[in-house]
Amino acid sequence: MDVVTTIAACRAARRRHTRLGFVPTMGYLHEGHLSLVRRAKAECGAAAVSIFVNPTQFGPNEDFARYPRDPERDLALLRGTGADWVFLPEVETMYPPGATTAVDIGGVTAMLEGAVRPGHFRGVATVVAKLFNIVQPSRAYFGQKDAQQCVVIRRMVRDLDMPLDVVVCPTVREPDGLAMSSRNAYLKPAERQVAIVLYRALCAAEARYASGERGGDTLRETVRAVLAAAPHDGIDYVSVADPDTLTELDRVGPIGALLSLAVRFGGTRLIDNIALAGAPA
Ligand code: AMP
Repeated sequence: MDVVTTIAACRAARRRHTRLGFVPTMGYLHEGHLSLVRRAKAECGAAAVSIFVNPTQFGPNEDFARYPRDPERDLALLRGTGADWVFLPEVETMYPPGATTAVDIGGVTAMLEGAVRPGHFRGVATVVAKLFNIVQPSRAYFGQKDAQQCVVIRRMVRDLDMPLDVVVCPTVREPDGLAMSSRNAYLKPAERQVAIVLYRALCAAEARYASGERGGDTLRETVRAVLAAAPHDGIDYVSVADPDTLTELDRVGPIGALLSLAVRFGGTRLIDNIALAGAPA
């Protein structure tokens, strides 16, 4: 497994493969990331991973400086996945002095994470567009864990005619249901225990949906009622939204919905979601 740090070395590594699956990450890898890499390798024959904590997707008061980093451990984990090469750029490589271009997706970036984290998806779209141009993958793999990010990237690829497929992979969870996240490392032991309430709350609403409930408010209320029973430090949102446009729904229709939430525990903000399946076509 090669480790490359320059754009020129990336391009040279890319030329060795016909098809390439690509997994962009911010590092501090866990089984969720590794599941994407294994799938990229299995489906494309070759897999590349980027590890880059992208400063432009963090707000001024967010956790860029303290975001967990352990590249040596990440590389050791990746060696077990069949990844062919890893792109590990410095900030100056991705953003040389004087760079001013940004990618603005509009529409689906306004709500949910975008409403709470202004500018976040501008940073995400810009760095992912740059990574796609540098790595030139046949397919790029993203996790359902960051559902709105998947919608934003799909929109960008469509709107800008980028020549690659976007593949969305299931959320990998801890045995107790907590969605794996690099940010789980921030949780104090008591917060970690309580954090399982996120998935429980989503599952409670999913169960009501499965038994026929279609009212957006009722489903959102079901989530909030479960969250209310556990100590947390604030709910940023509980959403039942159209899976394509992310607008809030009064009623869930035949295409189903994205049920998502963001909740704070101390200084840690966790997100999770479940897709409420639509009617079979
Ligand atoms: P990050 O390093 O947090 O930017 O994540 C890199 C990629 O891994 C993104 O596509 C995430 O959606 C995905 N990912 C993060 N956590 C999980 C998880 N628990 N299960 C599946 N994919 C995940």
